[in-house]
Amino acid sequence: MSETESTSVPRPKKPRGKAQLIKKCAACGGRCMAACPVDAIVLDEKGEAHIDMDKCIGCGKCMPACPVEALAKVYTPEEQAFLEKVGKREIPPEDAVPPVDESYRGVWVFVEQIDGAAAGVSWELMGAGAKLAADLETDLCAFILGYQVEHLAEEAFSYGAKKAYLIDDPVLRHYRTKPYLKGTYDLVRKYKPEIVLMGATGLGRDLAGAAATALRSGLTADCTGLTIDKANRLLEQTRPAFGGNIMATILTRAHRPQMASVRPHVLPKPEPVRGQKGILIREPLNLKEEDVGVKILEILRDGQDAGKVDIAGAEFLVSGGRGMVSAENFSLLKELADLLGGTVSASRAAVDAGWMPYERQVGQTGKTVRPKIYIACGISGAIQHLVGMQDSDLIIAINRDKDAPIFEVADLGIVGDVFQVVPALIAKIRELKTAPSRPAAYPEVSS
Ligand SMILES: Cc1cc2nc3c(=O)[nH]c(=O)nc-3n(C[C@H](O)[C@H](O)[C@H](O)COP(=O)(O)OP(=O)(O)OC[C@H]3O[C@@H](n4cnc5c(N)ncnc54)[C@H](O)[C@@H]3O)c2cc1C
Ligand code: SF4
Ligand code: SF4
Repeated sequence: MSETESTSVPRPKKPRGKAQLIKKCAACGGRCMAACPVDAIVLDEKGEAHIDMDKCIGCGKCMPACPVEALAKVYTPEEQAFLEKVGKREIPPEDAVPPVDESYRGVWVFVEQIDGAAAGVSWELMGAGAKLAADLETDLCAFILGYQVEHLAEEAFSYGAKKAYLIDDPVLRHYRTKPYLKGTYDLVRKYKPEIVLMGATGLGRDLAGAAATALRSGLTADCTGLTIDKANRLLEQTRPAFGGNIMATILTRAHRPQMASVRPHVLPKPEPVRGQKGILIREPLNLKEEDVGVKILEILRDGQDAGKVDIAGAEFLVSGGRGMVSAENFSLLKELADLLGGTVSASRAAVDAGWMPYERQVGQTGKTVRPKIYIACGISGAIQHLVGMQDSDLIIAINRDKDAPIFEVADLGIVGDVFQVVPALIAKIRELKTAPSRPAAYPEVSS
């Protein structure tokens, strides 16, 4: 790979400081500990808080949580000196953005593939990319790396790509960071797209991070929304931040391309228009197999995958939270899910309690789901849970607390005890299923 270039002078980062106890802890029960997103606070046997400085990221969330104002932010002398310089404007303020390279144009979507089959998230991104390209009055393009994958260009055209950039080379048969990074880097530097979108899959996360670093640009991972600030041609990249407690909109103002990744099933997949045409542009990889250090000797499929459940692709989910009280009670949800042809999923609280395996977790640190129907049973509706399921077609919530936030996103809410409501639902569905067919409520009309 050729030398990477930078479009601006790197500036030192503004220090964030660390939390420290400045007064005696009143042992309130650990409100600070509950507020800390990185588990940097522990309580000793007297219930007093202790901060692990190595873990603390200086987010400041613990401080307002403390009823006796025992916590404050502290800076090292070097950090203090830096802050004073910023105050005196000896260091340029953070909003002093150097001009960007205006020659970058176009919205690109990475078409991720394994063995020539495209990942669904690529087409989901194509749908979002089309809107962004329309707002910017520019072209939507696909870029494809692999071996014997030319057919994916046709597929990309059917999803709206005007152009497809293709590097088809035996070295790209299986994913390895170095050759895929080289292909991505060379294409981006030559054709200069202003936006590059990738799926936040295992492969996509690896490539997106490596590419953003090599291209000296920013990457906003796991976005939940992408829009355009038309006046400034900026991609508004929205994602949960600070442990999911706020939704942050992030801009890449000083560098190009603007790069973002989105998890599968977050965005809707558009309908392809078969036969739609576009321009295919081929490029060479210019990398020999002997120049790649990593060799793939054999691919062993994880045998456990066969038994694993993919909640992300499920059309009907019955999800349980802490309100289910125990692992055994999830059999109730399984019964309901089985009757409806659905799958059981869970909140993080239920997974952390060991009632359900991690692969069933819905939310920010679990899976994003988009089923036709999502039934939330005993789930409060914390923002970290909502970001993983709020785009479900129909949300039904069962919770005994009428003020639970889950009701704010629910289409149908049942205020009640899950241990009464769910058995009643099961009984009713059984009754309907076993009942002899009844006369239609309305006369049938034949055309
Ligand atoms: C960085 C970070 C990432 C996170 N990622 C995730 C994530 O991916 N997914 C996730 O889910 N959470 C995540 N969380 C945790 C999240 O903040 C919440 O703690 C979690 O979602 C709470 O789970 P819950 O709703 O099951 O439990 P609770 O918040 O304890 O809610 C239980 C609910 O059950 C109701 N209930 C109790 N008994 C009954 C009954 N008998 N009948 C009816 N209702 C009843 C209660 O009224 C309550 O509303 C994350 C947190 C952080 C900080
Ligand atoms: S400042 Fe943030 S990371 Fe540090 S202890 Fe407080 S809550 Fe945790
Ligand atoms: S919130 Fe304040 S009083 Fe409570 S445990 Fe933390 S430091 Fe102590």
